[in-house]
Amino acid sequence: MIYKGLVERYKAYLPVTDKTPVITLYEGNTPLLRAKNLEKHLKTDFKIFLKCEGFNPTGSFKDRGMTMAISKAVEEGSDTVICASTGNTSASAAAYSARAGIKCIVLIPEGSIALGKLSQAMMHNAKVIAVRGNFDEALTIVREISQKYPITLVNSVNPYRIEGQKTASFEIIDFLGYVPDYHFIPVGNAGNITAYWKGYKEYIQSPISNLKSLAPADAARRVNSSLPKMMGFQAKGSAPIVNGKPVKHPKTLATAIKIGNPASWKQAEAARDESGGVIDCVTDTEIVNAYKLLASLEGVFVEPASAASLAGMIKYKQSGKLTNTKNKTAVFTLTGHGLKDPDRAIKSIKKPVVVAAEFKKVLKIIGC
Ligand SMILES: *Cc1c(COP(=O)(O)O)cnc(C)c1O
Repeated sequence: MIYKGLVERYKAYLPVTDKTPVITLYEGNTPLLRAKNLEKHLKTDFKIFLKCEGFNPTGSFKDRGMTMAISKAVEEGSDTVICASTGNTSASAAAYSARAGIKCIVLIPEGSIALGKLSQAMMHNAKVIAVRGNFDEALTIVREISQKYPITLVNSVNPYRIEGQKTASFEIIDFLGYVPDYHFIPVGNAGNITAYWKGYKEYIQSPISNLKSLAPADAARRVNSSLPKMMGFQAKGSAPIVNGKPVKHPKTLATAIKIGNPASWKQAEAARDESGGVIDCVTDTEIVNAYKLLASLEGVFVEPASAASLAGMIKYKQSGKLTNTKNKTAVFTLTGHGLKDPDRAIKSIKKPVVVAAEFKKVLKIIGC
């Protein structure tokens, strides 16, 4: 069957009807890559799988939520949407609004968003407003506007966002044929960890998920697999859930998770506690290290925030907190594409060698 986006594929699990005008860029259906080079390099028994969400149409997982949020906004007759964004939400909202033919307004923290994301919002013709403040302040403003005016809020406090995003868990189960043991994921506003947990819980109970139609051998394996432990990681300089209180001036180079007061704080804690997982933090140095490993060992270029998931696993492994990993499967959500933030990449890596345009000089550098 030709793939037509996640609403079409998973409509039995989503709040849509035949009348819902589905606004889609054929998002979802992203690769789940086995990462054997990383397994070897890290000397781990884990079977590592990378859920590459940077392969979505605008380059981040936000598209999963946005196809739902914009479709429902149009169904409900809205002609304008608004969001606060560290970048990727605005890129996605702007693209889906363009496709729907509705207006989009985005508030971004001035100077704190990666250039690639800003260029997307601008090209898709959103009204971009840079506020002299942080994400949390921008979110407070757009929440108030959406309460007072007929403008639909498409941040992840919009429940349709979570509905769309939960389909990533469905895809993981469909692909593996079983439920992973661990799920590592970056945490910013905490919508995504909330969505994955909801998705896992719903899908294993569903009578029509692929799990239950598996061959008997696989079905037996399913009986052994309970829900995954949800392992969420914030950046150390913006780790309100870990600290147990909001961070007034969040700091991290991983701008997508530079959030001091997550909207889905309670739900993230519930995912952690119900699954027996953790929400912890990693330093910017640990993030950049994992960011380089993913690109150099697996050919997967992500943005820094995405690498917090792998950085978290490495930290836990090194401190001896991950035991009994033999034959266990760990999935890592890689939330966004590396090309969003090329400046960061170039700052993290040795500069190219510059040489005269001469055969011999080039050969010398190659080492022939
Ligand atoms: C939005 C985003 C996050 C954080 O997701 P939350 O749902 O806010 O926790 C992480 N990485 C990237 C690339 C993002 O765009």
